[in-house]
Amino acid sequence: MQELTHYINGAHVKGQSGRFADVMNPATGEVQAKVPLANAEEMASAVDIAKDAQVGWAATNPQRRARVMMKFVDLLNRDMKKLADALSREHGKTLPDAAGDVQRGLEVVEYCIGAPQMLKGEFTDAAGPGIDMYSMRQPLGVTAGITPFNFPAMIPMWMFAPAIACGNAFILKPSERDPSVPLMLAELMEEAGLPRGILQVVNGDKEAVDAILYHPEIQSIGFVGSTPIAEYIYGTGCSQGKRVQCFGGAKNHMIVMPDADMDQAADALIGAGYGAAGERCMAISVAVPVGDETADRLIEKLVPRIETLKVGPYTAGDDVDYGPVVTAAAKANIERLVQTGIDQGAKLVVDGRGFKLQGYEDGYFIGPHLFDHATPDMDIYKTEIFGPVLTTVRTQTYEEALKLAMDHEYGNGTAIFTRDGDTARDFASRVNVGMVGINVPIPVPLAYHTFGGWKKSVFGDLNQHGPDAFKFYTRTKTVTSRWPSGIKDGGEFSIPVME
Ligand code: NAD
Repeated sequence: MQELTHYINGAHVKGQSGRFADVMNPATGEVQAKVPLANAEEMASAVDIAKDAQVGWAATNPQRRARVMMKFVDLLNRDMKKLADALSREHGKTLPDAAGDVQRGLEVVEYCIGAPQMLKGEFTDAAGPGIDMYSMRQPLGVTAGITPFNFPAMIPMWMFAPAIACGNAFILKPSERDPSVPLMLAELMEEAGLPRGILQVVNGDKEAVDAILYHPEIQSIGFVGSTPIAEYIYGTGCSQGKRVQCFGGAKNHMIVMPDADMDQAADALIGAGYGAAGERCMAISVAVPVGDETADRLIEKLVPRIETLKVGPYTAGDDVDYGPVVTAAAKANIERLVQTGIDQGAKLVVDGRGFKLQGYEDGYFIGPHLFDHATPDMDIYKTEIFGPVLTTVRTQTYEEALKLAMDHEYGNGTAIFTRDGDTARDFASRVNVGMVGINVPIPVPLAYHTFGGWKKSVFGDLNQHGPDAFKFYTRTKTVTSRWPSGIKDGGEFSIPVME
């Protein structure tokens, strides 16, 4: 049995707490490794190391810091296959999808190569007689991130790349379900030239998270995961005086207008609903056709596509559309929610229950499900299922469809499929959701824009990556400077104003 480690001060360090979590192979249901769960002392020792190392890193000029990012990009490309394989083995997603997970993180690293430009600051020449005023963006110090299981490469890179490019030290507490890729990323950053102690990985569960929340030297916390934990981390972290940004769960609606290209809409729903077994915060989990005729046409197009989806282990190669879900508990929860859908009166049009794969009977595979005639009061509509289950809620008008998306407590992503520019524009303008797709089902912004939802999908005011990340990971210092020939007028007791 492989015993995983922490990555502290440039070395793999064994867990000291005596507590471990099982890392499963979701395709077989077997335990493939044990990951140590850190206690507060282990976290504190990583923070001490980070604090010492950060001083020199912050003093390293931004261009040299950016060069580490450049080299890191090369190393990610060099090791792409190895990273994707390790990712699939612990997460269960297909290899091309795992490579995409690494690639979308890599793109944020590429963006961070522009750190010198982003950190230039502002300058006003002659703000007053002999007075110059300038603003600097300075690093925070020791920063930390807590990440979910579903993107074990991309989401850590969303956080640590800008944090480190800005001159901070970063402590990553990855998901205990798939910790191997985060450990590999930390090794690669050091191979790229990052000094020891600037990126450390401390594995753990709630105990390690609480150690982050209450450590006085940790200046900021980034979190991505489920909404109840996001709310807890935001509330606790803010009460401890930290800068916190938390991204939570989702229930993304895709509105299908009567004039949409129905084949295109159906293809989009298949990828966005069932890709990665539905375990994406930007997955479409609710289809909202407008009008019964649209709904009938859409369902007719969806059913054969869903029935031919290939579910299997990542080792089966290109033949597989999606893999298992992450744990036995996730599988049981999805099956329970499907049952509530049936009990509460939704029509199960494609029934994925009882799916078994020969040779992988103990894996956490779930067949694809499609519900029709769901209503907003049902659990399958209200709850984030995070599995291969697409729920259809029929509406009669565009306004009704828009209201549905707007009334839902989550507001991460949404999409509209239509050929009408006026409707699309109205939707983009009015909907209270953070990321909107127009004939694009998963509108994940590229690295140089920012990523973030609205409503219960987010806590905090700055988004991930893009220019917001440089604001989140720095603070502003404004200097008013005068080099007079001599101060002759004596003290000034009222606030200076520009006359
Ligand atoms: P999770 O909330 O269970 O875990 C996320 C992190 O929090 C992990 O590192 C975990 O160890 C830690 N954690 C778990 N329970 C905790 C507790 N009681 N106290 C303190 N820390 C705790 O989420 P998950 O299952 O790993 O990921 C799936 C969720 O993440 C979904 O809800 C999905 O929508 C969401 N997600 C959101 C985004 C986004 O950008 N909005 C992106 C990806 C995933």
